[in-house]
Amino acid sequence: RLEAAQKVPGKPRHKTREVRVGSRVFGGSNPIWVQSMTTTDTFDVDGTVKQIHALEEAGCELVRVTVPKPEDAGALSRIRERVGIPLICDIHFDYKMALAALDHPVDKIRINPGNIGSHERFRQVIRKAKDRGLPMRIGVNAGSLERELIDKYGFPCPPAIVESALRYIEMAESEGYHDIVVSLKSSDVLVAVEAYRLYAGLADYPTHIGITEAGKPPYAVTKSAAGLAPILLDGIGDTIRISLLGDPVPEIAAAFDILQATQRRVRRPELIACPTCGRLAIDLEKIIAELEVKLAGKKLPVKISVLGCVVNGPGEAKEADIGIAAGNGQGMIFRNGEMVRRVPEAEIVDGLMEELARWEVENADK
Ligand code: SF4
Repeated sequence: RLEAAQKVPGKPRHKTREVRVGSRVFGGSNPIWVQSMTTTDTFDVDGTVKQIHALEEAGCELVRVTVPKPEDAGALSRIRERVGIPLICDIHFDYKMALAALDHPVDKIRINPGNIGSHERFRQVIRKAKDRGLPMRIGVNAGSLERELIDKYGFPCPPAIVESALRYIEMAESEGYHDIVVSLKSSDVLVAVEAYRLYAGLADYPTHIGITEAGKPPYAVTKSAAGLAPILLDGIGDTIRISLLGDPVPEIAAAFDILQATQRRVRRPELIACPTCGRLAIDLEKIIAELEVKLAGKKLPVKISVLGCVVNGPGEAKEADIGIAAGNGQGMIFRNGEMVRRVPEAEIVDGLMEELARWEVENADK
C-alpha cells in the first residue's frame, strides 16, 4: 500500500460545467478565480471605484458590491464603466433590488434564495437573469436556511445546506436556466467542508468557495485556510473569496497564498526555507529577504529550497527544482536534483539567481 501511494498527484478537479461571468469563465479546467467584495456604500461611486482599483491592483479578478437600496442599483452603471474586472451585484432580502440591479450592466448576480421571501420571487429573478443572459450565484448560507429544513435535520448541517441548494437549482432548471454558480457557506469549518464534499458528489455547477464570517485576521486567514485546504485538495472550487473583517485588499493575497500552498493555482516561485536553529551555517534570514526582493513579480512555478545547514539541506535541495544546502560558510547549489556548484555565502543569492535563469531556459517550452 505504501508503494502504491508513493506518487502524490493530487485529486482531479470536481468536473463542473463552464459558466461565463463577464471576461472570466468559471468551472471546467479554468483557473480558480480570486474575488472579493467592497465594504463601501455602493452609491458612493468614487469611494467604491477607488476600493475596486485597490483590489484590482492586488490581483482581484472579480468584485462584488452590495445592493440594498435603489440608489445602489442606480450606481452600478457608473461603477461598471470605471472598473476593469467583472462586477457582481449582491442581493439579500429584497427581490425588487435584484430586479432593479439586473437593469444595469452587471456581469453576475448573487442571491441568497433563503432570505428572498418566496419561491415565486426567486423565480422572477431567475427569469430576468435568463432574459439578460446573466449568470447567478445561488448562495446558500447555514445562517438562513429554510425553517422546514432546520426542522427536518435539527440544525444547519451539511445535508440540510446541500438539500437547500439542490432545491433552488431544480427551480432554476425548471425555468430553463443553467448559468448557475453555487456556494454553501457556513462559519463552521467542519460543516462547510462536508457540505462542499456532499455537493460535489451530486451536482456539477461550478462552486464559489469560502469560509463565511471568518472574522479578524490573522486568525481569520488561518481559519479560512483550515477550511478551504481540504475543499481545494478534494478538487472542489472554481472561484474563491476569503472573508476578512475590515479592508478587503488583504483578502487577495490570502486567497492566492491558499491556492499556491494547495498547488491548485501556482503563480509564483515556492520558497522553501527552514526555521533555523543552533546548527545554522549561514545568515538565512538575510538570504531569504534578498531572494524575496529578486523573485518579486516572477510568475514561475519553480520550487526553490534554501536550508541553513547540511542536516536536511542536500535532501530538500535535490527534491526542489533549485536548492541550496549551506555549510561551513558556503553553499552547495543544486539544479534538477544535481549539485552544480559550490559558492561562498556572499555569492549564494547571485548563484541561485543564475541557476534560476538556466532553469527558466530549460523549462521554457514545458
Ligand atoms: Fe537547523 Fe539545519 Fe534544520 Fe535549518 S536545516 S532548522 S539549520 S538543522
